[in-house]
Amino acid sequence: MIKDNVSRILADIPEGVQVVAVTKGKSAEEALEAVESGISIIGENYLQEALKKHREIGKKENLKWHFTGHLQKNKVKKAVRIFDMIQTVDSAGLAEEIDRQSGQIGKVMPVLIEYNSGREESKSGVMQEAIIPLVTNLSKLSNIRISGLMTIGAFHDEPEEYRPFFKEARNIFETVRSMKIPGVDMKYLSMGMSGSYKIAIEEGANIVRIGTLIFGERK
Ligand SMILES: *Cc1c(COP(=O)(O)O)cnc(C)c1O
Repeated sequence: MIKDNVSRILADIPEGVQVVAVTKGKSAEEALEAVESGISIIGENYLQEALKKHREIGKKENLKWHFTGHLQKNKVKKAVRIFDMIQTVDSAGLAEEIDRQSGQIGKVMPVLIEYNSGREESKSGVMQEAIIPLVTNLSKLSNIRISGLMTIGAFHDEPEEYRPFFKEARNIFETVRSMKIPGVDMKYLSMGMSGSYKIAIEEGANIVRIGTLIFGERK
């Protein structure tokens, strides 16, 4: 089932768009099946779960690991060891800790700034007006590399209802990119999940994060 799902999705994705298979709540075996069907990036939301899966299948060649959950500062030290990208930077404090811990192990960590496009106080992510100041401020850190934006959007049942959030994210992404801030490489726009990835791609996403459509419903 996972194999068919991955094949169907990959056949449908335009060139230049990367698919992150979000495996929260799923086993290393399930993740491995996705990888063997053509997935090259695993997305993880919880560090403990990620560490375990990484021990089991992390040796797999050319497999990349993206952190897509909410990262607590006290978990950064372990996170920087296994992840190839952290998609969810939403504060200067978190970015500084990632910079510090990455420096300790001689790594430059690509990070995305999480944009709170739904403007929900309860959700993580940076409000629109705070993005440019944050990116400018963090551009000086030498052990992280700001590589784009990530957004989730306020929850909706109808995929089409995500479009305005994705449009906004694209706008701010292009605005920051056009500023050509030294040390900032606005390359990736990560948006769209199982229900909304097609719309996200239409609106300019080049990373989509898909869980349910690959692995089935989570318990
Ligand atoms: C769980 C999760 C996804 C995948 O969601 P699905 O609807 O299962 O595809 C994508 N992005 C983030 C940040 C997630 O937490």
